[in-house]
Amino acid sequence: MSAYDVIVLGSGPGGYVAAIRCAQLGLKTACVEGRETLGGTCLNIGCIPSKALLHASHMLHEAKHNFAKMGLKGKTPSVDWLQMQAYKSDTISSNTKGIEFLFKKNKIDWIKGWGSIPKTGQVKVENNFYATKNIIIASGSEPSSIPGIEIDEEIVVSSTGALNLPKIPKKLAVIGAGVIGLELGSVYARLGSDVTIVEFLPAITPGVDSEVQKSFQRILKKQGLKFIMGAAVQSVERLKSKAKVNFVLHNDNSPHQLDTDVVLIATGRKPFTDGLGLEALGVKISVNGQIKTDKQWRTNIAGVYAIGDAIDGPMLAHKAEDEGMAAAEVISGKHGHVNYDVIPGVIYTNPEVATVGKTEDTLKKEGRAYKVGKFSFIGNGRAKANFAAEGFVKILADAESDRILGAHIIGPSAGDLIHEVCVAMEFGASAEDLALTCHAHPTYSEAVREAALACGLGPIHS
Ligand code: NAD
Repeated sequence: MSAYDVIVLGSGPGGYVAAIRCAQLGLKTACVEGRETLGGTCLNIGCIPSKALLHASHMLHEAKHNFAKMGLKGKTPSVDWLQMQAYKSDTISSNTKGIEFLFKKNKIDWIKGWGSIPKTGQVKVENNFYATKNIIIASGSEPSSIPGIEIDEEIVVSSTGALNLPKIPKKLAVIGAGVIGLELGSVYARLGSDVTIVEFLPAITPGVDSEVQKSFQRILKKQGLKFIMGAAVQSVERLKSKAKVNFVLHNDNSPHQLDTDVVLIATGRKPFTDGLGLEALGVKISVNGQIKTDKQWRTNIAGVYAIGDAIDGPMLAHKAEDEGMAAAEVISGKHGHVNYDVIPGVIYTNPEVATVGKTEDTLKKEGRAYKVGKFSFIGNGRAKANFAAEGFVKILADAESDRILGAHIIGPSAGDLIHEVCVAMEFGASAEDLALTCHAHPTYSEAVREAALACGLGPIHS
């Protein structure tokens, strides 16, 4: 007889949410986690600690640049790096303890240690074997470096090391102008580092609407971040307590070097499936190392499911959470579903960048007839009062039906604003539906309504 209905491997946002939903659905559930604390990469060394540092460094920026303008006088705060790290650690532990509490509340067993799947219906943790009817693999991802560049987490760091630097570096070279590079680059630039971002492509943040990309890069440059674009980083030489980044510019194939104190490698992540025993079990894996599943997160092995960063799709905590809930529902005989067309993406810089649905570039490529409604935060009273009037909201709607196809926001609280568009898209709403919805004044959300109005008769405040 099986001890469990479900064992979830990994307690990141995908795994812990899957475990909680399984328990809520009446399934006897355990979650295997080898880290000291629950919550996976996101809570321990990813989303949550980086948001603490983004928040603290943003407060410093406000104090330096905007306090005096508002009549708040006095000495600008200086950085106590140890205290900032302690604040970050407290934020992590209050979140990870929260998951522990939720596990107890939902009667989920935390099996401590690293798990593997010796055979169908069985999970091995350390030297113990557990019988289970179903297994959900939620093992997440790990940083992927450039071939030949070794991450030592001291001088050449991944996001993990970048969150734990012993001191604020004078010079920081960031390889990759993706989400991680720009978020952590922003943190250190605000804290006083001289930050240079070296990017392979001609534009930052691959996949983001190109109008947003341009505006975003312009704003970041104004904040002091330097960019070397169209540059392929080939190697990093570690020299005692410094490093040299060697790169080649695409336009003329010329070799260059960049001297720095710390190098952050932010060139993407790859699925983490080491030690699970998937090969021996016969689980199908793609060439990118992702576990292959069907549309209901079943692998080719009966009773073994996989979700989150370990499978196909954007490596986002909330995508993993949705899959976790849906997979739990499938296991309990319900119809779990994830709408992959409406998954928001947020970059937590200042201003934030948030996107959902199709970009204008994709619509052009598809040859689709569409309308653009755009509104700049400069016409938003609240944004002006808060020194946050940079950026815009752009809504894309079908030219004929007016149905919303996508939204792209760069501006204050973009990561929160995007969700009204997500809900609208889930309900198949038109831009007019958004435009006719009363929005409280004065709020940033009025800019979303104005962009929706711009798809029709036109906005009021521009
Ligand atoms: P990314 O894929 O977003 O960006 C990597 C960048 O590195 C790309 O622009 C790429 O062109 C560049 N690059 C690759 N090789 C290079 C080379 N040799 N020289 C110069 N540039 C090179 O990856 P990331 O920023 O590391 O993030 C990893 C994953 O984690 C992503 O899927 C991301 O969505 C996710 N993540 C999301 C959030 C968030 O949602 N806020 C935060 C952190 C991470």
